[in-house]
Amino acid sequence: MFYQMYNCFIWLLISATIFFGSFVNGASIRLEKTDSQPLKRQSVVNKQPALSHPAERRPSWGFYAHQQINRLAVFTLPVDMMPFFKKHISFLTDNAVNPDKRRYAVVGEAPRHFIDLDAYPDTSATTLPRYYKDATDRYGADTLALHGLVPWQIQLTKYQLTEAFKQRDVKRILRVAADLGHYIADANVPLHTTRNYNGQLTNQQGIHGFWESRLPEMFSTDYDFLTGQAEYIESPQKAAWRAVFNANTALDSVLRFEQQLTDEVGETRKFGFEERNGITAKVYSADFSRQYHERLRGQVERQMRASVKMVGDFWYTCWVDAGQPDLRTLANYQLTDQDQKEEVAEKKSWLKRLFSARSED
Ligand SMILES: [Zn+2]
Repeated sequence: MFYQMYNCFIWLLISATIFFGSFVNGASIRLEKTDSQPLKRQSVVNKQPALSHPAERRPSWGFYAHQQINRLAVFTLPVDMMPFFKKHISFLTDNAVNPDKRRYAVVGEAPRHFIDLDAYPDTSATTLPRYYKDATDRYGADTLALHGLVPWQIQLTKYQLTEAFKQRDVKRILRVAADLGHYIADANVPLHTTRNYNGQLTNQQGIHGFWESRLPEMFSTDYDFLTGQAEYIESPQKAAWRAVFNANTALDSVLRFEQQLTDEVGETRKFGFEERNGITAKVYSADFSRQYHERLRGQVERQMRASVKMVGDFWYTCWVDAGQPDLRTLANYQLTDQDQKEEVAEKKSWLKRLFSARSED
């Protein structure tokens, strides 16, 4: 009797874990949404001051944008690569957000998604070392981790993908390609290049999710994603840095236009309520969003397009650097039951760690 009850309990626990698996995806989305709800966000910030664990509380490109970027990058690839990547396009799309899911669960993951350029005294053309080794020699690994690692992470992941291609390891190619797409996309977000990543230092809390989730969700059907074919990158290191510096130059307008518009429109018309999945949420109003979108003159679209192109370029470059392995033979590879079980088990382990990490809050 006791044993049966015990068994029943275990099954309940397992089903709850699976159920919460989808819930956590949703929770992450909701967490991003709360960025557009200053009150809720405020309570999170109050509970754990943003500056004490800056890396852990950061939002990221919305799930939707990340998935679109990985998906669209597939179509930039040359004919030798396209069939393989097309065959696995749903894997690359679905797993575009893995690094974000890992952020709370895997030690060392959080800082890989951003870099606070303004945390360094002078990051203009030459001072911040472009290679991780030189940068750690100058600042130490802890300082680098505190202020973010994204350009170095792109270089590292680029190396890993090249190795995976050399080894013809399909599972690894797909996983690392999906991750690389994620880090590249993050590097192209202006608010991923500053300490003021959610407008918290300028009383613009929520701007992160507004810029990178709400705007693409509302307007990306009108975006033009034609990027042309993927091209070989001579210096991935320089390309990664160029991306963060370009994104950083857009930061000024991201913040300034939102402030101007808030001053013009007023706080009451700035926000509205929308129902999502049965929950009424406070969001930036449709009117405010449209005006901001217009004022930015295609900036989100440009950054998304730059991400798509750069992801395609990097995937292509890794493949070339690996000696252009014949992907037609690899295209027949099917993820086995065992592979799929491993994927599920790994995601569950993130989930478990996520819950134990949260309970310490
Ligand atoms: Zn991210």
